[in-house]
Amino acid sequence: MKKRTTVYEDKAAKEAKRRKFEEEYRAKHTVQCPYCKKDVLDTMTKCPGCGKELKPAGYRPLSDKQIFRIRLIAFIVCMVIAVAVVYFVVFR
Ligand SMILES: [Zn+2]
Repeated sequence: MKKRTTVYEDKAAKEAKRRKFEEEYRAKHTVQCPYCKKDVLDTMTKCPGCGKELKPAGYRPLSDKQIFRIRLIAFIVCMVIAVAVVYFVVFR
């Protein structure tokens, strides 16, 4: 028979999971500030310790391929909307 969990237990499990995820995220993304050697997250653009600008390691500019793909998707979406509008206006 399956053990029934209370709402409280569910919440606690969720909280523990979230905390674990956060800890792992922190461990993965913590780097040292090159200026003051404090632990900072690599997604930060500014050091909270010394206020100097940091280069976020997680940040990568979009490649041409990604830009092309995004534009293509945007174009297709626009075309679909345009065709739908024309369809409803003309063939109503
Ligand atoms: Zn710093």
